[in-house]
Amino acid sequence: MNRNVPLFRRLSASDQHELLGHIQVFLAEKRFEGCGGLELTDEMCVTIAAQACLLLLHRETDYFPRLLTILVYPSTYMAEEKRHVEGPVWEEGRMPRLGETGRRLGAMVLAWDAVKSGAADPSDGKNVVLHEFAHQLDYENSADDGTPALATREQQLSWHEVMRTEFASLRAADETGIPTLLDTYGATNPAEFFAVATEAFFERPRMLRANHPRLYAELQSYFQQDPVEYSADRIKTN
Ligand SMILES: [Zn+2]
Repeated sequence: MNRNVPLFRRLSASDQHELLGHIQVFLAEKRFEGCGGLELTDEMCVTIAAQACLLLLHRETDYFPRLLTILVYPSTYMAEEKRHVEGPVWEEGRMPRLGETGRRLGAMVLAWDAVKSGAADPSDGKNVVLHEFAHQLDYENSADDGTPALATREQQLSWHEVMRTEFASLRAADETGIPTLLDTYGATNPAEFFAVATEAFFERPRMLRANHPRLYAELQSYFQQDPVEYSADRIKTN
């Protein structure tokens, strides 16, 4: 665990304990399958489970109820994709994929090389497991609209307001080519925005809190945790 998920060491003792409990349930409930010749090991399953279950800490939650099977491929694979370029322009073709999941699939595909490198550097802002499992959280309330199940009407209102503004500004930054902390893939649609923001929240919390305080606060209230407390990221000044 410490070797493949260095973040684990930085968690408090009680969080580590809670996470280990979630991992047990997760491993018992989900089916893992090695694909494309991958020899699946316990270490791989635990590395995936640990990062997925980080999203569940401190919350009254189910274990990604729509997900039954996790298919693990050895490395980043090519898939047909339609990607928004700008305005009405879409580009179609074979693009490298690190992972994917869908609301009706009941399955998730992950590339082991991407899982491993995502976990190895817990503060580069990129983490395919956090990204794909954020999509699964989004599906819990049936729509894949970038809004997970929120407890109160008040929380929903504030969430929609903040996400709409932040999504619009990422879209604008994407169109003008201004460099952003959030991966501009999040400008694709609100569902991708939530997944990308989740990656930043756990991997670049200090930067996110400094640059997008309202977005940080919404995610903090939803996830019931403050990754600044255990993150290794640093504020970069330039
Ligand atoms: Zn996505």
